[in-house]
Amino acid sequence: MSQTVTRADFDQVMVPNYAPAEYIPVRGEGSRVWDQAGREYIDLAGGIAVNGLGHAHPALVKALTEQAGRIWHVSNGLTNEPALRLAKKLVAATFAERVFFCNSGAEANEAAFKLARKYAIDVGGAEKYEIVSTTNSFHGRTFFTVTVGGQPKYSDGFGPRPQGVKHIAYNDIDALKAAVSDKTAAVVVEPVQGEGGVLPATKAYLQAARDLCNQYGALLIFDEVQTGVGRTGSLYAYMDYGVTPDILTSAKSLGGGFPIGAMLTTETVAKHFGVGTHGSTYGGNPLACSVAEAVLDVVNTPEVLAGVRSKHARFVSRLNEIATKTGAFTQVRGMGLLLGAVLSDAYKGRTKDFVVASAKAGVIVLQAGPDVMRFAPSLVIPDADIDAGLDRFEQAVRTVLGQ
Ligand code: PLP
Repeated sequence: MSQTVTRADFDQVMVPNYAPAEYIPVRGEGSRVWDQAGREYIDLAGGIAVNGLGHAHPALVKALTEQAGRIWHVSNGLTNEPALRLAKKLVAATFAERVFFCNSGAEANEAAFKLARKYAIDVGGAEKYEIVSTTNSFHGRTFFTVTVGGQPKYSDGFGPRPQGVKHIAYNDIDALKAAVSDKTAAVVVEPVQGEGGVLPATKAYLQAARDLCNQYGALLIFDEVQTGVGRTGSLYAYMDYGVTPDILTSAKSLGGGFPIGAMLTTETVAKHFGVGTHGSTYGGNPLACSVAEAVLDVVNTPEVLAGVRSKHARFVSRLNEIATKTGAFTQVRGMGLLLGAVLSDAYKGRTKDFVVASAKAGVIVLQAGPDVMRFAPSLVIPDADIDAGLDRFEQAVRTVLGQ
């Protein structure tokens, strides 16, 4: 029997670790979403950089429904065709020679950190276990990944944390040089800090990380959970930078809204995850892999990737115009369709107000912390939806500013 549910039910039946908006979306098509009351929103958030091809993309619906009629799940005691096809495509399209599938970004990073330590300890000895990470970084919500992440608000309050993690300032080459040593197992970096404020790394910083890892026999891990699968205008951001990691993690847009995560690495590193060292019941699920294969087929084309770059220019120029006209923002930054607008001093700490006002104006936007508005729309969002969405956003900004 179907039941009517409302936002009020959330507070009665759900664990209170989220504070969702007042409206409940029930349907989406492309970059438009409708709520229970039939109100329409333009989606400039894409989940949080997840719906890389918008909502209900025909190629993804087809892949999912066709696979749904075939086989949903097999254990890891068996392999399956969609997982093998997806892995072959990822290997063909990237530096990687081996792939591990899981269900989320956190799990992909958990696998990456465990593999990096296993490799380092196998090759370099028991003392080679340190992970060098950056302040304000975000790598997921498992205990190891919040510990490696550079935001104590997510890792404090749960008792003793895993040991051997150092945090240094992002984009600070001197700090990196001081932190990396013979004890370093891995350096982990988001090529663009997403949750931490949509802050791109400099090429010099990523190159320095690569060089130091080579010098000390450490592995370079790029967390591309948010930047991957076309988001920056290349299939992965490392390609934009011309700096290649040893391990790369991918999730979010990889499944276009269907849960999947992947850890990509080289054969030399992968062999340290021998039989039984790591695993996941659902990792490599045929439904997830079928959808992700369809995502890759659509995204990894010159037209879609070039489209991301031209939509970037359109988005940034309109955001800059809003910044100049309203005085709400001091800087617009980011790569491809992962964009941030930094709030002026007078409005610092108020991103949530802009998110709420935007929803009232019919546009879904994101925050990246309290001081930066974030946009991560579909990679194939029509230009007309960018224009209309940012018109609505400007209206919302003016409402918050009382203009
Ligand atoms: N890494 C980065 C860079 C992310 O942005 C996120 C999620 O926002 C994660 C890891 C965690 O991914 P998930 O929520 O799928 O576990």
